[in-house]
Amino acid sequence: MHVTGLQCVHCSRTYSTEEVDYFCPACGYHEGILDVLYDYEAARQELNAETLAGNREFAMWRYLPLLPVARRELIPHLQVGWTPLYETEKLAAELGTARCWVKDEGRNPTASFKDRASAVGVVKALEKKVAEITCASTGNAASSLAGFAAALGIPATIFVPARAPEAKVAQLLVYGARVFSVQGTYDEAWELCMKASAEFGWYNRNCAVNPYLIEGKKTVSLELAEQFARLKPGSFPDWVAVSVGDGCTIGGVWKGLKEMHQLGILPRLPRILGVQAEGCQPLVTAWREQRGLIACEARTLADSIAVGHPRNFAKGMRAITESGGAFIAVSDEEILESITILARKAGVFGEPAGVAGVAGVKRAVAAGIISRKESAALIMTGNGLKDILSAIRAAGRAVTIKPGIEEVREAICATAAG
Ligand SMILES: *Cc1c(COP(=O)(O)O)cnc(C)c1O
Repeated sequence: MHVTGLQCVHCSRTYSTEEVDYFCPACGYHEGILDVLYDYEAARQELNAETLAGNREFAMWRYLPLLPVARRELIPHLQVGWTPLYETEKLAAELGTARCWVKDEGRNPTASFKDRASAVGVVKALEKKVAEITCASTGNAASSLAGFAAALGIPATIFVPARAPEAKVAQLLVYGARVFSVQGTYDEAWELCMKASAEFGWYNRNCAVNPYLIEGKKTVSLELAEQFARLKPGSFPDWVAVSVGDGCTIGGVWKGLKEMHQLGILPRLPRILGVQAEGCQPLVTAWREQRGLIACEARTLADSIAVGHPRNFAKGMRAITESGGAFIAVSDEEILESITILARKAGVFGEPAGVAGVAGVKRAVAAGIISRKESAALIMTGNGLKDILSAIRAAGRAVTIKPGIEEVREAICATAAG
């Protein structure tokens, strides 16, 4: 393991990994988010173009020299990462970009991007020898943690807001987690989970306070960089678009890109497009008005990004300012429309937060933020089966008929006329 320490993003103090587990004790968990530091020279000896070319492990663990995992034997058996990257011309034409790729993170074991973080979280819990693990989640981090805890036999207690979609809650119950549906918002569930973790000594998988989880999330970018290098050495899209809730995903995306750039595998850094929902856009507002965070209410059907108080504001903001990118907000109507656009143009079925990036790129092209000569990669963060009600709202219901061929003929005429 090449981790050299932890650094507070607020006060820049550094700590050893034995000193602290979660956040900077001087700044507290609202601001004292920690970043994991590495010895990149040492990592480069083990992770470079040559070693990657010969590496036959097609999962996120192929980047182990850049992960905070000391004991390889604790890695769960579930296959995470090395998700497909599709180029889609029809989607590019629809969105107005020169070229367009979709990275389908719905293909992970519990069907969302969160698996990259949970996989690291459970290993760290075992390394710390804690008996139980917990998280608060809008849904996907919860179902993901439940799956990985089940795979390793660690009991998990999970706090979800009452509004979490049924499919996600069903998923966690099936995996055997103890689930508390909190009568309140995600932000309230989150605070309750923090208290319970401290009270009962459970390992805390909340991404913003646990610095190691973002390390798992960054592997999506390590992969993106390598996948593009394999397609055509030296190539990479101008933009990477991803939806933003707490800001951990986008923070991880940016860190991974910077690391691949530093290792010489990524020729140049792209700009990042962070996409939020109009009904919950605290990062967009703070970026546009150049001020600090003001928490807001969360009014959007995209439950995975319905986060009024983003816990990783600092890392989320840094991804956009450092990359010269942009934040953009899209309406729930645009998000619903993007479910069918992505499915019909690219054959990929996403949940609302998963497809928000599609709506974001479309808007960014219309607004002149992304030019028509530029290319974009979209990180599709969650599978569409996670939220069936939104899918039905986007695509409608089936035509009901009696089992006769005449009925079919009439129905075809009726639908063609309508
Ligand atoms: C969690 C999640 C996001 C946003 O990630 P943050 O780290 O909260 O910004 C986006 N899409 C899906 C499907 C998610 O589950």
